[in-house]
Amino acid sequence: MALTYNGYKNYETWFIKFHYFNEEELWYDYDVVNLYQHVQDGLMTDSNITNSIINHFLTYVHFEEIYETIQNHKEEYSCKNCGEYSEDKYCCKECEQENYVTMTHEKG
Ligand SMILES: [Zn+2]
Repeated sequence: MALTYNGYKNYETWFIKFHYFNEEELWYDYDVVNLYQHVQDGLMTDSNITNSIINHFLTYVHFEEIYETIQNHKEEYSCKNCGEYSEDKYCCKECEQENYVTMTHEKG
């Protein structure tokens, strides 16, 4: 079995996830490329050597895994009616009722 770090594929992946994407709900609409771009843009310097070191580090980061973690979070923390961020099954009473009505209607 491959080595892992705090549940992530490796240290580099965990490090970037933890320091950049700890608040998953802010990143729900970002795809893998956007996530990578965000990290890289924020780190680039005027020094080519430093940039090379950074880019080398980033090649070890599994951005797909970070993306999946964020999308799983989105699924878990979204209103089952309107899809808005919600710690509960529904974001508000209206959504709960609306979804109930819809479900009842679909069943005939
Ligand atoms: Zn809702």
